[in-house]
Amino acid sequence: MTELYPGLFQIQLSNGVKHSNMINIFLFPGNDSCRSLMIDTGFRTAQNKKIMDELLVKHRIRYDDLDIFLTHKHHDHTGLANFYADRGARIFMNPEEDRHAYDCLYYNNNPQALEEQVHVLATVGVTEKRTPVLWNRFMELNRMIQQETRDSMFNEIKNYRYVSITEGMDFRYGNYHLKAIHLKGHTFGQMGLVDEEHRLVFPADQLIDGIVPIVATAYPDEHLLNYYFKSLEEFQKLYAGYTIHPSHNRPYRCDGTVPAGILAAYHKKLDTIREILQSADRAMTTREVAFWAYGAEDEYGWKDLMQTKMIISKTFSCLEYLHDKEEISRTCEDEILFWRVEGA
Ligand SMILES: [Zn+2]
Repeated sequence: MTELYPGLFQIQLSNGVKHSNMINIFLFPGNDSCRSLMIDTGFRTAQNKKIMDELLVKHRIRYDDLDIFLTHKHHDHTGLANFYADRGARIFMNPEEDRHAYDCLYYNNNPQALEEQVHVLATVGVTEKRTPVLWNRFMELNRMIQQETRDSMFNEIKNYRYVSITEGMDFRYGNYHLKAIHLKGHTFGQMGLVDEEHRLVFPADQLIDGIVPIVATAYPDEHLLNYYFKSLEEFQKLYAGYTIHPSHNRPYRCDGTVPAGILAAYHKKLDTIREILQSADRAMTTREVAFWAYGAEDEYGWKDLMQTKMIISKTFSCLEYLHDKEEISRTCEDEILFWRVEGA
């Protein structure tokens, strides 16, 4: 745990897998009888529960007096939310994060989600008939999650009660006056926090130094990459000179370097995808384009299914973006979307 500023702490939690993901959790302990704030919860592992419990005891924070601001519903941010909610903490989240029963980047173990998954996979061209190997890997993973055989990033996010966050909502803890901002792009309903007086922003996964954040699409016509690009532009205008504390990696000064790097990477990927479709002699599924764009050799994808899912959903965002720009056309056959360059 590091004290970033007086009364504001950062805790780094891992998913327990070697050389793997870390997340920054921010804690604003309340003085005496005041409530405390935590931004996100970290992965759902026993180790993280233990670390956080010890910290809460150290700062004399009772679950009843704890507010948790969930930036978005991804396993690394929200994994422990039900654990805290069950013990009396008050959880805040944008309900837009719950708009679908199934999402490509987290699991919710209910029959509706599993039913929905079949349709989402079909949309991108993953079906039992077309891609049996990849299909089976998804089904195998479903079984593992149901049996809870892995204590890692594949853990499901269990349900929890929460208070809805809206744009501009105020959060005051100690000397910090935070305001909720909508950061649409990385997810549909991602929210961040800004402290104007201290010139601090907590943008979650929207802008990270050294990582190109994934914009993951699972459903057509959500225009996520459009929103993401717009958000990067606005962010730069509003928060120039602020210190940015993302949920991963280190803090940095908002001077335009990070968004410029991210935009360049996305535009390069868009160029690649455009070229793939231009040279194709037929309409392609999202899965096919993704595997070409990222160099997977067969329908199996990558050893890590999470990586395969991320690549497919990121490619889906890019294809939707090109489609919105009317550079490519989209047709639908038996639920499967097919993409091709207009007039090719
Ligand atoms: Zn995320």
